[in-house]
Parts: sequence; structure tokens; C-alpha cells
Amino acid sequence: MLAARSLQEARLYVDLRPCDCGTTSPFDPEFSVEEVDGQSVVVYSGTCPNCGTERRFEFAGVPDGDGFGAGTSSIIDPGEFLWVSDAATDQALSAATGPDPADRQAAQAAFETALAALDEVLKFVPAGATEVPAEVIRSELGRTVYDANPDRFQIERLEQRRAMITDAQQRVSV
Ligand SMILES: [Zn+2]
Repeated sequence: MLAARSLQEARLYVDLRPCDCGTTSPFDPEFSVEEVDGQSVVVYSGTCPNCGTERRFEFAGVPDGDGFGAGTSSIIDPGEFLWVSDAATDQALSAATGPDPADRQAAQAAFETALAALDEVLKFVPAGATEVPAEVIRSELGRTVYDANPDRFQIERLEQRRAMITDAQQRVSV
């Protein structure tokens, strides 16, 4: 069973794992809480819109709370979190130039996601170290991000990136 630190992390885990059929259609799972052996289990389940495969993800004892949760993730690696941060930053920058106030609100929300995901990457830098250790990045997506540019996982580069996103966020008025 998977151990998520929060519902937000559990849902992100599901979103980061597309069906084996390779579809890019969004998977929109049902959310439920079930009792398994006297413990409550968070379940996301549904049918792949492309190939019809039944998909089910079970998370044990998900704590309440905002954000991705305390401590480091055991189910999403820092390469995946950097990918999430990059995607949210791109989304924020394109929404920020939109004509409507709603676009700028969407941009602010995406900037918040970008920063939160980047902070998750930073949590993987051990005390006294200067970068995320390569061996903690195990997912296929995470390895792809890491191999494209391992230097991005240096604490200095991550903090520069954080400052850049914060600066861009502050220039978008709501
Ligand atoms: Zn499928």
C-alpha cells in the first residue's frame, strides 16, 4: 500500500502515473475512503478512458492537512516534483498574460503550485549537502528530468529558480 503525506500528494501521484496504454486523455478517478483490516484507506479508482482498463490506487492512513505534507515524500521523487514545478511555472507564465482577472488568479495558483513543488525538491537535499543525491530519483519521469540536466538539482540552482518564480509571481497583480 502507498503512503501519502496528504490528499494532495496522493492525487498528484495518481496524475503522474498514466495508464500503460500510453493515453494522454485525462484519467478522472472516483475518490473514496474504505476500511481495510480496521484501517481507513484512501482509494482513487476508475476506468481508463482510452483502453477501458480498471485502475485503482490505495493509500494507507493519509493525514489531513494542506499542501503536500510534512517531511519528504516516499512515493514521488524530486525529479518528478521538479517536473511538476516546471509545468506549473509554464502554465503560470502563460496565464499571467491573459486578458481576464481570472487568468491572473489562475497564474497565482499555478505559481503557488510551482513553489510548493520546488520546496519538495529542496527537502531532498540532505543537511550539509549541496545537491539532491542522484540515487533518490528512481521514477522514469524523474530520471528523464535529472539526466537532462543534473546541475538543476544543486541547492544553489534550486534557490535561484525559487527566486525567479517568486519574482515572476510578484509581477502579476491580481
Ligand atoms: Zn489505458
